[in-house]
Formats: sequence, structure tokens, C-alpha cells
Amino acid sequence: MATTSIVVVGAGVLGLSTALVLSKHKGLDITVVAKHMPGDFDIEYASPWAGANFFPVGAPGSDLQKFEKATWGELDRICREVPEAGIHFQETKTYGRKKDAGTAVGQWFQELVKEDAWFKDVVPNFRVLPKSELPPDAETGTTFTSVCMNVSVYLPWILGQCVKNGVTIRRGILSHISEAGSYHSSGKADITLNCTGLLASKLGGVMDASVYPGRGQIVVVRNEPGVMVTVSGTDDGDEEATYIMQRAVGGGTVLGGCLQHGSWESQPDPNLAQRIMQRSIDLCPSLVPKTGKVTELSIIRHGVGLRPMRKGGPRVEKEKIDGNWIVHNYGHAGYGYQSGWGSAWEAEKLVLEILKQESVVKAKL
Ligand code: FAD
Repeated sequence: MATTSIVVVGAGVLGLSTALVLSKHKGLDITVVAKHMPGDFDIEYASPWAGANFFPVGAPGSDLQKFEKATWGELDRICREVPEAGIHFQETKTYGRKKDAGTAVGQWFQELVKEDAWFKDVVPNFRVLPKSELPPDAETGTTFTSVCMNVSVYLPWILGQCVKNGVTIRRGILSHISEAGSYHSSGKADITLNCTGLLASKLGGVMDASVYPGRGQIVVVRNEPGVMVTVSGTDDGDEEATYIMQRAVGGGTVLGGCLQHGSWESQPDPNLAQRIMQRSIDLCPSLVPKTGKVTELSIIRHGVGLRPMRKGGPRVEKEKIDGNWIVHNYGHAGYGYQSGWGSAWEAEKLVLEILKQESVVKAKL
């Protein structure tokens, strides 16, 4: 049977999800090549730092909204049917404050905190909170059932599913996208999937100037909040956020955070960490039931990750570079997990279009 050589560049949540979706097709010989792999912690690698939950933020009509909507069904299925994937359901509360409307964080969470949110019929148990259940400075609030992933389990689980389906996994650093074929056993890539996240801004042949970092700082603690909660902003600055989520299967609780546009700073800021912890216990006193103080938080680690922001939203497109077919799937900012499957299916559609167009493979897909 004729086979098509596919190289997926990148082993973050987008690269691995895309490889897994493609691996279900016969006739595709897939290699994933990446500088960083699950298990690594590096400032150039966003996926290990994510919470990661499903808090939809795509504007109605956008590709992101389409990807988020599609992804919910798969996260829900995995949550119910595949406990070893490290996802669990979480009851969620979101609070909106009018004064956050123009801030970086307020804009990010604009759709999330709406009382008539577009996803109200997508997620289960969506309900508007009565004023009596809101914090004093919030004007709006909703509750619904969402999920939270333990990314330390979820990423290796996807990787394992890829390997089970025959995908080859390799380490490598590409300076130009056209080098992808040299990592495939056939010595060529009929189609390359570009899932390089933030580094799409530096990869030869791509050099996407609209991609930039959105710095996020977190504190991971052992304390259990009992609810997943976020607010549209804080009084500590436009780029600071408060969100709390408990990861599945012992992954600890992630306290966030911030969205600092354009910052490449890899080290945690101790003052910001202190503010994150104080805001978290103020919002969710059940984190520290004995003393009500930050000192009761049992810290696992401090972390910093850079969200792969992209002006205009995620790029899921096909393009020929130096005569080679490339399918881009990058630029998922703070929503790579919650939009990952929808985005991977879109990339799959583009791969199938190319195969049809080029008749690269005659095998039945
Ligand atoms: P990455 O994970 O960065 O992976 C890129 C891959 O490409 C890596 O394997 C890298 O080594 C490889 N690569 C790049 N360039 C090259 C090259 N030249 N040669 C070889 N390999 C290369 N999202 C959610 O949905 N929900 C959340 O709750 C959430 N919380 C977050 C909290 C924080 C603090 C942060 C920082 C992010 C959060 N995100 C969340 C966003 C999410 O983490 C990202 O959208 C997602 O991880 C991006 O995945 P990616 O695969 O595109 O990029």
C-alpha cells in the first residue's frame, strides 16, 4: 500500500492531538519531531504549564469558538470513558466585574463571564448566579460543569495513544520548516504539520510576526478548593488575573495568574506570587480552612509559562513553502487545551484536502 509521509513538528498539546487524530487514518506514516517533549519543563514549551481547564473565550462566529465548541464533546467523552487520561469534571463559578471591561484580562474573559454565554447550552448545568451568591465587587456570575486536566498525565496519555497507533516520536530542532522531511524514515515529508506554538515566530520559512508571548505565572499547591473559580480581573493591575483549578488525579491545585502581553520573562516574580496566593484565598477561603492565611498554602512549585498569543487568533491553514505542503496549527494563546481537538480536526480536514488535491496517496483513507 502506498503511504504518505507526514511529519508533525511539535509535541505540545496541539502537535500530539493532531498526530493522534491523523494516526487513525490508514496510509499515513507519521513522525512527530520536537525540541521539547512531555516531561520537560521549559519556558519555550507552553503545554506543561497550563491549568488546564475548559473556560471558553472564543467570540461568537470565530474559528476559536468553533474549535472550543467541538472540543467540549471530546473532553467530556474522555472524562467519562478514559479515567487514566487525567481529566475530571469540576463545578465552576465565574464572576464578572464591570470595571474590568477594557483591561487585558477583562478582554480575555469577556465571553467567559457573560450571563448569556454562547456555551450555556454546550456545557452541563449552566446557571446564572443570583446576586446574593456573588462576591461584593462582582456584578455578574455563572456556574456550570467544566473539566480540569492534569497535564502531567494528559500529555503522556496522548503521546502513548500516538505510539500505540504506530506514530514515531523523535527529538530534533528545526531551523527551517523545510527540514521536517529529514526526520522521517522515508527522508521526506509529503505534508508537514507546523505545531510549533510560540516558536512559530522564530522558525525559518514561517517567522510569523503576529505571534508573541502572553506570560502566565502560577503557584501549584496541595490545598483543595472544592470549586473551580475565576474573576474577570483584579485591583492589582490590568494584566493580573485570579483563577483557581484543581487538577485531576493528584495534580494539585493551580492558582493563577496573569496575562502579560509581550513578556519573555521566564522567572517567577515573588511579589506577584504573593498577590496570586492572597487573591486566591480571599476568593476561595476553603483553600485555607484552618487559619485563613497564605501560610497555610502548601506550595508544590511556582511556575511561568508563555502562552503562544497570535494577533487574529489561532492559525489553522494550509500553505506551500518552497514547494512543500505545510498545514499550520499554532497560536492558541491561553486556550490550547480547550480548543485542541477541534483545531486538530480542522488540521486533519486540510490534510485530507491536500491528499485529495495532490493524489499523493491512493490508499483508502
Ligand atoms: P507548545 O506546548 O509550546 O508546544 C510547541 C512544541 O513545538 C514543543 O514541543 C516545541 O519543542 C516544538 N517546537 C517549536 N519550535 C520547534 C523547532 N524549531 N524545532 C523542533 N520543535 C519545535 N489552555 C487551556 O486550554 N486551558 C487552560 O486552563 C490553560 N491554562 C494555561 C495557563 C498558563 C499559565 C499557560 C502558560 C498556558 C495555559 N493554557 C491553557 C494555554 C496552553 O498551555 C497553550 O495554548 C498550549 O499549551 C499551546 O500548545 P502548543 O502545542 O501550541 O505549544
